[in-house]
Amino acid sequence: MIPGCVPWPEESARRYRELGLWTGRTLASLLHAHDGRTALVTATGERRTYRDLAGRAARLATGLHHLGVRPGERVIVHLPNSPELIDTLFALFTLGAAPVLALPPHRHDEIGHLAARTEPAAYVIPDHHQGFDHRELARRIHGPGQVIVAGQPEEFTPLDALYTEPADLKPPDPGDVALFLLSGGTTGRAKLIPRTHDDYLCNLRLSAANAQLTEDDVYLAALPIAHNYALGSPGVLGTLHAGGAVVLTPTPSPDDAFPIIERERVTVTGLVPSLGLLWAEAAAWTPHRLDSLRLVQLGGAAAGPELVADVEARLGRVQQSFGMAEGLLSQSPPDDGPELRAGAQGRPLSEQDEIRVVDESGAEVPAGQAGELLVRGPYTIRGYFRADDHNARAFTPDGFFRTGDLARVTPSGHLVICGRVKDVINRGGDKVPADEVEEHLLAHPHVRAAAVVAVPDHYLGERSCAYIVAGDEPPTLPAIGAFMRERGAAAYKIPDRMVVVPSLPLTPVGKVDKARLRGEAS
Ligand code: AMP
Repeated sequence: MIPGCVPWPEESARRYRELGLWTGRTLASLLHAHDGRTALVTATGERRTYRDLAGRAARLATGLHHLGVRPGERVIVHLPNSPELIDTLFALFTLGAAPVLALPPHRHDEIGHLAARTEPAAYVIPDHHQGFDHRELARRIHGPGQVIVAGQPEEFTPLDALYTEPADLKPPDPGDVALFLLSGGTTGRAKLIPRTHDDYLCNLRLSAANAQLTEDDVYLAALPIAHNYALGSPGVLGTLHAGGAVVLTPTPSPDDAFPIIERERVTVTGLVPSLGLLWAEAAAWTPHRLDSLRLVQLGGAAAGPELVADVEARLGRVQQSFGMAEGLLSQSPPDDGPELRAGAQGRPLSEQDEIRVVDESGAEVPAGQAGELLVRGPYTIRGYFRADDHNARAFTPDGFFRTGDLARVTPSGHLVICGRVKDVINRGGDKVPADEVEEHLLAHPHVRAAAVVAVPDHYLGERSCAYIVAGDEPPTLPAIGAFMRERGAAAYKIPDRMVVVPSLPLTPVGKVDKARLRGEAS
């Protein structure tokens, strides 16, 4: 294991192996079956087989090795959904270096933090994406490692030039870290989530089985593949595990996605609720045939019964998906009837997922009552990377992860998510940690105090509202937006609303009274 990661205790690891949950394979092995079947269809309709992808991964892995990337090292991968992203991931899985999966909207503040935390051997970027020049971003980062560019490289290394005659590389150990995902945030900056080959394969295999994926399935990657949901829940990797085909779309908008669903006869996709709403509205008038869709996952944020009904009426059967990059996945089993599909967030995927629901003191609540959800299991991490202090708070001494979500467990073992205790705004599935935004706001010369809270929103579920106490010249919201962009924050973290107040309300113990602010903002 890479130093700075927390392994599972030996006794648990042995049990997971004995139960066949950890199979001793690596993620690279996903491409070593199904030879001539289609594995990937690009947005322009170009098709690649499993054999093609395996060959490309072997050649790129060798080129990365020649460049000096070594097993156990980290590589920040900051690519949008693209064939290059698939090649890069499998090349790194083959080589045993771990991709650190940055999200497409991240900018130099977030990437600089990841670079400082992971000391990467390389940083892989597109030249441009959605009008943004990533080479400019790379120039602003301290210590990004070798910068590798898909597209016009300028002074950097072209990705294309790294595909080379494959050499025999020693395969990584299945217990090693395969990839780093980013936490949706609790407090402080995004934490790094080390997922091993063994645990992530378990994650995606269970999820693929629960979604009943087969070789005949065609999965549309509508959301960023860099996120756990579209990567492994079951997502791209779960589809490849089942021998199905993954289809890319330039954007998840109905204008782009619907013609592709029709053309490729897409059977499964995963959406956040805000996108589900948009697609259900657009499906009412689209000329495109969408009847190939047999399963539409809704997850990443709360999906209410009305939305589930709309999506089922217009698009296809819904599977609720509650999960987190740290591990636990709770998804509707195939035999859930309409009521459970509408009213519960599925069931944990493994019988070895140990669930506890606790009150504020950490004591378990009576069965069926709501409390904070704690989890331990074969695909839930035991600690973040290089984060000892945070780990001491985020995990119980006996290894349960404190999710920060409020849930109750029904007699049938389903989870119903009822809210959260963590100070995060879930903006249509994009997680905005309140304290990170507050830190940006407080850096503004005319902001004296700041508190960011969630406000309900019809489309996104939640939006962010910043309450600020200002000096003589209160900044406007556009000025705050420009200020945060200049500081290199991702655009989705910029507050949607701002209210200037003379002072922030305090609780009796002197903390900012966010509950009251939430009430005022709604
Ligand atoms: P991430 O690690 O970015 O996938 O974020 C995980 C967090 O997203 C969870 O801890 C929840 O707070 C939230 N989340 C994910 N799925 C759902 C869902 N179906 N309903 C409500 N919240 C969800």
